[in-house]
Amino acid sequence: MTTAPATMTGVILPGNSTVEFKQFPVPKPGPGQVVVKMKASSICGSDIRAIYRAHLGKGPEGYQPGTIAGHEPCGQIVEVGPDCKEFKVGDRVILYHISGCGCCDDCRTGYMISCHNEARAAYGWQRNGGHAPYLLAEENTCVHLPDNLTYLDGALVACGFGTAWEAITRIKLDGRDRLLITGLGPVGLAAAMLGRALGASEIIGVDTSADRLALGKKLGLIDHEVISNDGALDAIMKITNGKGCEASVDCSGAGPARLLALKGTRQWGRVAFVGEGNDIKFDVSPYLIHPQITIYGSWVTSLGHMSELAERLSRWNIHPEITVTHKFPLEKAAEAYDIADKGQSGKVAIVFE
Ligand SMILES: [Zn+2]
Ligand SMILES: [Zn+2]
Repeated sequence: MTTAPATMTGVILPGNSTVEFKQFPVPKPGPGQVVVKMKASSICGSDIRAIYRAHLGKGPEGYQPGTIAGHEPCGQIVEVGPDCKEFKVGDRVILYHISGCGCCDDCRTGYMISCHNEARAAYGWQRNGGHAPYLLAEENTCVHLPDNLTYLDGALVACGFGTAWEAITRIKLDGRDRLLITGLGPVGLAAAMLGRALGASEIIGVDTSADRLALGKKLGLIDHEVISNDGALDAIMKITNGKGCEASVDCSGAGPARLLALKGTRQWGRVAFVGEGNDIKFDVSPYLIHPQITIYGSWVTSLGHMSELAERLSRWNIHPEITVTHKFPLEKAAEAYDIADKGQSGKVAIVFE
């Protein structure tokens, strides 16, 4: 094994739409921990919304200033601490990006995202994340990356694809359904790709950006492009013979788009809200009660479901990395965040070596 250098450069996000580089010691694993050499570390919409532009969410849920950013890490284990049981040096791993207490009901179901213990810490938020050459990780947050998936595929699973998978499986999407996706950013593209894999019979993508719609079409992930404007609902109804889609997912977090997802859902249909922030107001009788619609709120995913997703992607031989439009080395992290912030691209990722 090669000896790692003593210090490394990591990216921190001061919260004023800038990126800063700082020196950190290369981590050493304690009991139950591993050190992962980073290979890919992609940027999530939450990094932009809640950290890069300004630090939203104070306290234990917020970004701790000075923490190495990046909560979509993927790499190879180079060192294991005492008492590790499953993972070895050389293993390729995706990181489920939240380490929980391990003992509460949420952690025990694999939803460390929902852990309320003060021990809960997310990589890239409260503990150092993937925007540095090495990451100190809890062994129990590692997910095996199958051989036929790339490190970039794995990084995208760590948050975005995991989040999309959770939402579309929770609404029980299958081949009988038309799928409506509002917000065709990286999570929307993920929902489209996974919706295809589950056999959705027709996929409609909605976005304010024509470029994003064109990307979805070019990648073969959506069948219909609907630009988000006053005519969007009519366009959806025209495509669906006036009925709407059996299943819808809002990945935008924008109030009007979320409402469009609801109104574009067919009677007895299911809607998942995934995009964060903002609020909506609607008349419940005509849009929810009378059409017998079920709304699901869905936040990230569980460790088990992430592992299941990695296995399915491998079996289907489909690659999340096709949604990546911009790759940068770590030293160009400022450029990477600037592109991601513009909201016109596919996925933006930092890659190593
Ligand atoms: Zn995320
Ligand atoms: Zn817990």
